[in-house]
Amino acid sequence: MAYRWPAGTTFKRIDLDVQDRSCPACGRDMHVCDHRYHHLWTLQGPTQVVNRLVRCPDASCESRGCTFSPEAELSISMPRWCLGWDVFCWLGHRRFARHWSVSQLRAELQDTHQIRLSDDAITHYIGRYQTMLAARQQDPERLAEAYRDIASLVLTIDGLQPEKGHETLYVVRELTRKRVWFAEPLLSSAEQEVHRVIVLARQWAERLGKPVRAWMSDKQDAFVKAIATEFPGIPHRYCQNHFVRDLAKPVLDMDSQAKVTMRSKVRGLRAIERRVLEERRQAMAPKSPPPLAPPKSVATPTTTAPASATPEPCTSSAGGLVQTDSALEATGVATAEEPAVEDEAGEVVLGYCAAVRGILNDSQGGPLHPPGVRMSEALQEVRDSLEHNLGAKKGGLPSPC
Ligand SMILES: [Zn+2]
Repeated sequence: MAYRWPAGTTFKRIDLDVQDRSCPACGRDMHVCDHRYHHLWTLQGPTQVVNRLVRCPDASCESRGCTFSPEAELSISMPRWCLGWDVFCWLGHRRFARHWSVSQLRAELQDTHQIRLSDDAITHYIGRYQTMLAARQQDPERLAEAYRDIASLVLTIDGLQPEKGHETLYVVRELTRKRVWFAEPLLSSAEQEVHRVIVLARQWAERLGKPVRAWMSDKQDAFVKAIATEFPGIPHRYCQNHFVRDLAKPVLDMDSQAKVTMRSKVRGLRAIERRVLEERRQAMAPKSPPPLAPPKSVATPTTTAPASATPEPCTSSAGGLVQTDSALEATGVATAEEPAVEDEAGEVVLGYCAAVRGILNDSQGGPLHPPGVRMSEALQEVRDSLEHNLGAKKGGLPSPC
């Protein structure tokens, strides 16, 4: 791909020569016949590599017509690339080990190394990096080396679909070395397609000369049949992850039911808050007629929560957290009598209301700690806290509920 260098770019020049200048055919000293200029980006900046090409001066020599290039040329870059290996590796490493996006790579190349590349160019080189990496990963010699000390193999297969409607990538991994062996994109999960992939896995195992101890996959029919055919007698275990995921579905359904029930019981937050704010407004008004405090809460002039307020919720049929509402109301009402602490108590009530609202709206949590269980735990904590506070004010009376 041609790279257009801005006018006036200054290049760092590297001259390369053929190491052995004697002709491989007749042994004569070869002459420089041409120069090949290669302009590219390295981490040192714009670089010009000047390759001095040589050929045998003897027109009758067997090597006639052959031009020889400096061996070191390929250690800097590949022909016609606009990047040196150093930039190429920098890109590949950051893309695949650090998961940087293309635009992030482009910005960082420009900011830190003053290397200007388009998104297209970066994408193109990342594609080449992947190709090289895949070739290296699948190199039989390297694989044999990696598996030299392994007695037996555990193979897995699964299909990944990056986007709905796209082809599915079937990945075969080996678990003792935690290595992806290969991946095949298949348009359908038809048995014969999948079978081909399993056959490929068998060929890999045979080439390594290692026995397969077990297979692992989900329960997809095509996997089960193809593995049974190609690996007769080898244990095939179903994937724990898939099992747990399937199990999670009914659990989460039940959990969400429980959430609905809890939400229906814990109601009236807004009414409590309105009441606190209303009472606060009235207290602020200069000596207006005494606030309309419900008679049950006038028991004491202190800030102590009236004893009459707490038993009341016990009569409620909804039970559980309805008590929270009533207790909060009672606290708010009782303190309205005392302007000095009124604000503070109101704050506490509003704080409880905000906490409970947060709990009711929280939908975090996965199958191992489902949202409903989290909600129930959190509401219980609020309830404990309320009872603790009420108990403390009443001089440690046991909770009537
Ligand atoms: Zn020669």
